[in-house]
Amino acid sequence: MITRSPALLQRPDREVRPLAIAASWQTQLSRAIRDPRELCRRLGLDDAWLPGAEAGHRLFEVRVPEAYLARIRPGDPNDPLLRQVLPLAAEGSPASGFVEDPLAEADHTPAPGLIHKYQGRVLLIASPACAVNCRYCFRRHFPYEENSPSRAQWQQTLDHLRGDASILEAILSGGDPLAASDRRLAWLVARLEAIPHLKRLRIHTRLPVVIPDRIDGALLDWLAATRLQRVMVLHINHPGEIDDAVVAACERLKQIGVTLLNQSVLLRGVNDDVDTLAALSERLFEAGVLPYYLHVLDPVAGAAHFDVPDDEARELVAGLREVLPGFLMPRLVREIPGEASKTPL
Ligand SMILES: *Cc1c(COP(=O)(O)O)cnc(C)c1O
Ligand code: SF4
Repeated sequence: MITRSPALLQRPDREVRPLAIAASWQTQLSRAIRDPRELCRRLGLDDAWLPGAEAGHRLFEVRVPEAYLARIRPGDPNDPLLRQVLPLAAEGSPASGFVEDPLAEADHTPAPGLIHKYQGRVLLIASPACAVNCRYCFRRHFPYEENSPSRAQWQQTLDHLRGDASILEAILSGGDPLAASDRRLAWLVARLEAIPHLKRLRIHTRLPVVIPDRIDGALLDWLAATRLQRVMVLHINHPGEIDDAVVAACERLKQIGVTLLNQSVLLRGVNDDVDTLAALSERLFEAGVLPYYLHVLDPVAGAAHFDVPDDEARELVAGLREVLPGFLMPRLVREIPGEASKTPL
């Protein structure tokens, strides 16, 4: 049991928050914590956590923006938000079945930065970077250098989309697509909307959650202007991630007519109980977001300590169904390489 000093419980960060919020999202992104020692120090973690944090950091670097750090309870190594971002020694232990490319995405890349696995929709790697590095990420070993196309290479991707009239939806993914500049994104969306058979633009992102100021005027300008129908899928795993600033960012998106959905990953020690999942759905709906998917963990090397067995996942969802209205139930799914869609459990 860790003893917490009252001083730590008072969240000393709060006094400096107005300053951090005044900074642009780009500044907040560039100032994200990228040093495991600083992360442990800022959160008042016992020194015993440091060697593991440094070992995990060497496998997949630490990255935590201040706006997210401010929602973590200092001095609590079991904080569900902290567990998502703190590297652990366990990440270095091999676990059977946990591999580098669990989704075999390397097999479905017809053009640079393009993944075409499912009928009617394609996934575009719009930015190799993320604003936060989530320890459970299935792309923690993704070869982004090979999938971070220049404008010239984008032409190949756009040609693929133009040449296949069955593609109705372009999904911007990453990394985090909203880590790219608005200039770059506006350029890409202008080219996408010029493809007549494309109907929808979908954006999968965690940026509005970890740096809510990302939803600023420059972003709303290009997102409001496109003829494409817009869907944003947020990635939120725990109700504690949704603070007032996140609710306000969602409100700005809703005002321009963006449909907001959420996908979560079922994570041991973060959201693996009915109460937390129910509170997450309730909190999402307060923010105007509907639950979409609850993914079981992809078996990526370094994340085995987050795994929740399938039987337990099914039981949790059955318990959730007893306490939530149907429209607040996420679909429990797994991604199986070679299947034509996500697979319901
Ligand atoms: C998950 C995924 C999609 C989107 O699937 P939906 O079921 O429509 O949300 C599309 N392409 C790839 C490669 C994916 O992994
Ligand atoms: S934001 Fe998404 S892609 Fe980026 S590290 Fe987290 S889970 Fe992975």
